[in-house]
Amino acid sequence: MKLKLWGTRGSIPSPGPSTIKYGGNTACIHIEGSKNECIILDAGTGIRPLGMELVEKCEFLPAIHLLISHTHWDHIQGLPFFEPFYFQDAKIDIKGPAHFLEEKMLKNILDVQMQHEFFPVSKEHLKANITYETLDETEFDIGNIHVKSLFSNHPTRSLIYHLTEKGKSIVYTGDHEPYYNLFDVGKESPSNETDDIFFDDTDTTVSNANGRFVNFIKGVDLLVIDCQYTPEEYPSLRRGFGHSSWNYCLDWMKEAGVKKMALTHHDPVRTDDDIDKMFDNIREAAEKKGIDPGKIVMAKEGVEIRI
Ligand SMILES: [Zn+2]
Ligand SMILES: [Zn+2]
Repeated sequence: MKLKLWGTRGSIPSPGPSTIKYGGNTACIHIEGSKNECIILDAGTGIRPLGMELVEKCEFLPAIHLLISHTHWDHIQGLPFFEPFYFQDAKIDIKGPAHFLEEKMLKNILDVQMQHEFFPVSKEHLKANITYETLDETEFDIGNIHVKSLFSNHPTRSLIYHLTEKGKSIVYTGDHEPYYNLFDVGKESPSNETDDIFFDDTDTTVSNANGRFVNFIKGVDLLVIDCQYTPEEYPSLRRGFGHSSWNYCLDWMKEAGVKKMALTHHDPVRTDDDIDKMFDNIREAAEKKGIDPGKIVMAKEGVEIRI
């Protein structure tokens, strides 16, 4: 599989002179399989230049499989600007999780973006043959690529995708925060025995949920993981926002035996210099934990990784 990063920024596009190196576009990854399978993970603003390149490079557009991790803005904002939507011969299959409320299915959430209040071109102008499917935790094939999904810990329904082809695997977490004990927040000391039992039970549930995640990423060749925060920011200041910090990413990498890790979903306030400094700290911490720092990269727009 060949992976190319088209958007590495989290939350909101952050273009400008201070983000040229790592990029300002929001979440989007293109994966090409050995049989020219075309898979796109998330449709942040990075999907606009990707769509332009697909149209320009391909005489005939391949069947496009768009896997959405979740429908927060930074993961769908580029959709109306995805050029293949406007081509009659294009076949685009969109899969992603449904909202918690059943009537808000994936198609409705995407249609809303193209209402006149928000966008000048209506959905009637979309010429492509578009199909939609809402997913839970499941598995299926796209050509030779086997896909599995797992719910992440995020403040909406959000899926992590695991792709395998010819024994090589990639996991893209989308947005993910470590599971934690809700009763731990602001807790001083347990006041009585009943509280202790309740707290211990929840601790076990949390530990099992984190274990499921580690199991899902076990031994993967490439883990593209949400790493929005530093240990100074998370958990003390940002817990519950749905993102991870790099110290957790390192621990997961070691525990799961991940072979290579790309840290992405950069915070919009982070300049290139900030990310470089963050990377220095990450490499230093990795060495201390016995992880080869050469196996870790900061996700950078435009970079290709072959698996
Ligand atoms: Zn996000
Ligand atoms: Zn999100």
